[in-house]
Amino acid sequence: LVVTRFAPSPTGFLHIGGARTALFNWLYARANGGKMLLRIEDTDRERSTQEAVDAIIDGLTWLGIEWECDPVSQASRVERHREAVEQLLETGHAYRCYASQEELEEMREKARAEKRPPRYDGRWRDRDASEAPEGIAPVIRIKSPQEGETVIHDAIQGEVRFPNKDLDDLVLLRSDGTPTYMLAVVVDDHDMGITDIIRGDDHLTNAARQKIIYEALGWPVPKMAHIPLIHGADGAKLSKRHGALGAEAYRAMGYLPEALRNYLLRLGWAHGDEEYFNTEELNAVFGLSGMGKSPSRFDFAKLENMNGHYIRAADNAYLVSRMKDLLVEMENGAWFQERWNETIERQLVDAMPGLKERAKTLLELFDGARFLFDARPLPMEDKAKAILDADDGAGRTVLAELAQKLDEIPLWSLEEIEQTVRAFTDAKELKLGKVAQPLRAAMTGRTTSPGIFDVVWVLGKEEALARIHDQAV
Ligand code: GLU
Repeated sequence: LVVTRFAPSPTGFLHIGGARTALFNWLYARANGGKMLLRIEDTDRERSTQEAVDAIIDGLTWLGIEWECDPVSQASRVERHREAVEQLLETGHAYRCYASQEELEEMREKARAEKRPPRYDGRWRDRDASEAPEGIAPVIRIKSPQEGETVIHDAIQGEVRFPNKDLDDLVLLRSDGTPTYMLAVVVDDHDMGITDIIRGDDHLTNAARQKIIYEALGWPVPKMAHIPLIHGADGAKLSKRHGALGAEAYRAMGYLPEALRNYLLRLGWAHGDEEYFNTEELNAVFGLSGMGKSPSRFDFAKLENMNGHYIRAADNAYLVSRMKDLLVEMENGAWFQERWNETIERQLVDAMPGLKERAKTLLELFDGARFLFDARPLPMEDKAKAILDADDGAGRTVLAELAQKLDEIPLWSLEEIEQTVRAFTDAKELKLGKVAQPLRAAMTGRTTSPGIFDVVWVLGKEEALARIHDQAV
């Protein structure tokens, strides 16, 4: 059984790189009939917060990424980590090191002078316990092999070789008895039955160090897959400006979770030339062989286009409920929330086919639907007012006449409205625009909107006529 895990450190929100890692772990587990577990790596007590844990869980839930069992807290497993260190001491794979801060600083100094990465020189590797100085609490270090190499068979990076002379005897347990990250990850992955580790390639060197710990403990090494990181559009390391934001920031920008998921998937994974994948078909086609070997670039324009695609394909009522969810989060959400009611909700569903065509995000849907939320007398944009005032208010006169015709429609339907407006323009020998433009201005206070017949219909007869009368002479 394939068991993967997502192991975030709860020191901030669920950032976009983490979300992608979680997605790949989840898809991989699903495609192999396995499961994904969640482990919160909260051993850094100073930097870990409950707020961050909540944000991570919230972000994953919103994205529809599922894990099994309760999240495992790494900090709660300290006793077990110590136990593993005991085992390593007993089997001679670890030792107590009494090197002082000064000695360690000397080693670092030396490395700097020789222009190489600092390494612990192993001075307590083979010393006898009787030599231990009094009153000093030791750290416990792994006894790493000093010759040969450690080879990682990575599903994405291929065979990666690390000369063992570069991997020093790292600390497993600090002098205060707290386990290090490197040890905790190995013990937890083993105990959780993790078979496959998929994570960012910034952990590749850790993989070699962790492999040494696995082998010292006599445990099988899980399969590894290290994914290239996400870069910004300019190729530089991903920063906030590039889109290194939390999942909740994307939600607040009006992206649909399924669109962001599809975008993150394609950010590093390909299957032929296909762009769009739903979760069901991914069960059949997702595999690590589709992962790219070089960093992918975050491209907001592509994400927007994808979101637009998902919006156009989505069910109308579903989109309205997503808009409703967004009210509490969007910047001007309070304004919309105050006005939101059942009538508007119904009108939104009716207006959605027209709104969808012009929107790439839920925020743009709100913007397009603003005319439903505005109450009479409508706020008028200057350009809209100019259309009504042009040619001595010709448009206002036309509207007055049109209102009479619209008033005669017995059954308010899209077809009737369109027929009535067209018959009216034909009879007056006017171009459609000469009627549609002032009508749009009167209905929405703007010069752009969804299709004008849609707008008139969605507003309902009473409201539409009242808006016309507000502007007509
Ligand atoms: N907690 C680590 C991180 O957030 C991940 C550790 C791992 O995946 O092995 O980068």
